[in-house]
Amino acid sequence: MLKFGSEGSKQFYDMFVLNPAHAEAHREGDIHIHDLDFLTLTTTCCQIQLSTLFKDGFSTGHGVLREPNDISSYSALACIAIQANQNDQHGGQSIVDFDYGMAPGVSKTFVKRFRDNLSRALTLKFSVENADDEAKDILAAIKEETGLIPSLQENEEFKAALMDKLSKWAAPETAAEVFDFAQKYAVKETRRATYQAMEALVHNLNTMNSRAGAQVPFSSINYGTDTSPEGRLVMEQILLATEAGLGRGETPIFPIQIFRVKEGVNYNPGDPNYDLFHLAIRVSAKRLFPNFSFLDAPYNLQYYKPGHPETEVAYMGCRTRVMGNAYDRSREIAPRRGNLSFTSINLPRIAIKANGDVDWFFQELESKLNLVVEQLDERFEIIARKKVYNFPFLMGQGVWIDSENLDWDSEVREVLKHGTLSVGFIGLAECLKALRGEHHGESEESQNLGLEIVGFMRNYLDRLTNERHMNYTLLATPAEGLSGRFVRIDRERFGVIPGVTDREYYTNSFHVPVYYPISAFDKISIEGPYHALTNAGHISYVEMDGDPTKNLEAFERIVRHMHDCGVGYGSINHPVDRDPLCGFNGIIGDTCPCCGREENGRPFERIRRITGYLVGTLDRFNNAKRAEERDRVKHRMD
Ligand SMILES: [Zn+2]
Repeated sequence: MLKFGSEGSKQFYDMFVLNPAHAEAHREGDIHIHDLDFLTLTTTCCQIQLSTLFKDGFSTGHGVLREPNDISSYSALACIAIQANQNDQHGGQSIVDFDYGMAPGVSKTFVKRFRDNLSRALTLKFSVENADDEAKDILAAIKEETGLIPSLQENEEFKAALMDKLSKWAAPETAAEVFDFAQKYAVKETRRATYQAMEALVHNLNTMNSRAGAQVPFSSINYGTDTSPEGRLVMEQILLATEAGLGRGETPIFPIQIFRVKEGVNYNPGDPNYDLFHLAIRVSAKRLFPNFSFLDAPYNLQYYKPGHPETEVAYMGCRTRVMGNAYDRSREIAPRRGNLSFTSINLPRIAIKANGDVDWFFQELESKLNLVVEQLDERFEIIARKKVYNFPFLMGQGVWIDSENLDWDSEVREVLKHGTLSVGFIGLAECLKALRGEHHGESEESQNLGLEIVGFMRNYLDRLTNERHMNYTLLATPAEGLSGRFVRIDRERFGVIPGVTDREYYTNSFHVPVYYPISAFDKISIEGPYHALTNAGHISYVEMDGDPTKNLEAFERIVRHMHDCGVGYGSINHPVDRDPLCGFNGIIGDTCPCCGREENGRPFERIRRITGYLVGTLDRFNNAKRAEERDRVKHRMD
């Protein structure tokens, strides 16, 4: 293996590790190798499953953590798991089962609170001595005899069993009062404890530093479909904590929250979690999260098996999705897998060089696909030779699928094959402009060609996937830094081409350009079909004008339109401003509507969404991203 010092610099990789052809293609702007500085070190991201992680506790390298015993330790351990895993990876950390995974914590908290309140009632009503022990013994006996425990959802059988135990002190009527007292206060206290645990989680994930101490972890949580009272309480309370904001009412940047929308579970009136869908809409209209994922989209629905949460598609906040599994078809599941690495293709470049020759375009695109796959394979080969001890948490603690069967010094090659190698693309809009003079928002022919191009890439990768039993997938690349880099190089080389190289950025993946005036509904209808093609991940946004908290009905109509158009993952952008001086939250123009001050001295905070993540304030964006944000037009609601 290659040896290198602690300075894992991009230049070093460029000179000594990368195949010269790949290094050149990257340097010249034909392709972009993402996270190059981590080339020989780590994989991108992981979809963490809390339920397996919590079952027997885990070790972070600084001691073993036991299986948690109440909702506050569930919340704390979820944060620790995210942070510890983040140290082994350079991308994001997504929890796939936040509702299902946290629910047992609520249940355990409820049992404790019920026991405490039962003890109180025994003392008050019957002056029982050692009431704590009595309460403990009674609950233990009921559990042994009937298997029943106190639960958030009032249970008649349990109540009868308890009243029977109380009969040595009290008539049935008084016994019922004791039960009602214990149940009532246990519910109240459990709600409160769950809220505090969720508040702490949001707070921790916004402040803890990881990724080599440099940034907070890129954390995401998926939830929406657990219909148990405990899972429902978790969701209700995380949403309420998010709505309330951080200590001084600031909008939380992390975790990215993703509400899973599913017919029969939460989408329609009468569905068990319909109330939570509505709450999610209300909170998203104020805080930009949760985003919405759609399990009914055919390419997500094909994996879905009711009663099997692991078959529910999860998303990484930025958009990554890992589901199909050609390495092991019996495990096409979301948990404990992730993306290994991804590299993006500069589509506008190929289109400019094609000079209108569409056949040439496809030939050149295929040669770029060959090149990128070859580069991904070489990167895989480097990482595959690593050992479990190189990923002490991800592999050492069994976070990654099947890693629990490996020894400390085993090679990770085989288990990594559950992950994905992804080819991304950027600037479909500029590509179509260069090829046909119109982008896919402007003309139906361009839309057809756009679908043909993206479909071509997907077919190429599917073919490879089936041949090699490895997961090659197509990603709608989150633009990040490269959108500005590609266009800068192309403008130098080809000059200013109207609609192609005349802005500071290339348009994100398959999006209709942000500057193009179009209705929210048309934008979603045009982008929807691309979601089906980009199996490594995708997201669509629309920009809503005004204050959506005052128009929740319109907000919901957009979410429903996403559902109907086959969107897999989407979100609605709107201005979220805050005056740090008076604490006002809402839309701020030149003056604060609350205290009336102008923006001199202390700037207003303006939170915006860039590539799936929220960014604290506008001034932290790079230039290309600031230009993109400036160009965004609001989408009409007709
Ligand atoms: Zn103010």
